[in-house]
Amino acid sequence: MELEKVLLRKAGEAVTRFQMIRDGDRVAVAFSGGKDSLTLLEVLLRLRDRAPVRFSVCAFTVEQGKFLRPVEPFREYLSKRGVDWTYHTDNPSLRLLEEQPDHGCDLCSRFRRRAVYQIAKGLGANVIAFGHTADDFCESFLRNALFTGRIGALPPVTYSREKDFRLIRPLVYVTEDITAAFAAETGAPVIPCGCSLKTGTVRRTLRDLFAELEKEHPHLKSTLLSAMGNIEVSRLLDLRYLNLDANQEEPALLPVLTEWEPESLGSRTPSAT
Ligand code: SF4
Repeated sequence: MELEKVLLRKAGEAVTRFQMIRDGDRVAVAFSGGKDSLTLLEVLLRLRDRAPVRFSVCAFTVEQGKFLRPVEPFREYLSKRGVDWTYHTDNPSLRLLEEQPDHGCDLCSRFRRRAVYQIAKGLGANVIAFGHTADDFCESFLRNALFTGRIGALPPVTYSREKDFRLIRPLVYVTEDITAAFAAETGAPVIPCGCSLKTGTVRRTLRDLFAELEKEHPHLKSTLLSAMGNIEVSRLLDLRYLNLDANQEEPALLPVLTEWEPESLGSRTPSAT
């Protein structure tokens, strides 16, 4: 399957480049039921079967009252795939939805994060995988630059505050046209979240902007992702990185080290095309 090859190559690039998965890891996939988290789960199951390191995969879903259909079909699908799955109804989130129906993403994410760590602990996981895609990274980058006055997107790898979980985003180089096509090809149940229908949001505006620009520049997201990995700090305005003194040393950039690099999964050079 050509699509599967492309997908595994891109996810493999990310996993390798950012040392996302290590020997003995137990990876819990944040499975929201949409096309992206479904793709992420399938990618990790396939990588698990062919990667040179041994790791296990489980999944969880946090019910925050936003699914547009019953999630029951997930149970059957995940049990057929042999995935240990936890379905958690988050009562504080349901109360929040009742009391403040128009609450923003910040509050919603905070509630979810708290639940996520508890569930991952219960599953015995030390790694939590999120389904953010190349589209999310690009939108986040533009949102920060245009609306919050800072340069930054999402970390491909980071740690929880207590350092008890490694948080990874293996789909950083995978665009949503790929996750949509792959999810459709698997025939697995996809259950959208109510928020996906929201209009008039910054996210929607940025999505429309990308769609318009991509009519003439189809590799725009790939270029933007490359830019995020190729920062010319001395050509920005952040004093922490500027040499105002001729005798000051250049800021040193450390090389990326990789723990495992399966040839079949691609090279260290990232690409989103
Ligand atoms: S888009 Fe919806 S589900 Fe996602 S963080 Fe925002 S409010 Fe929560």
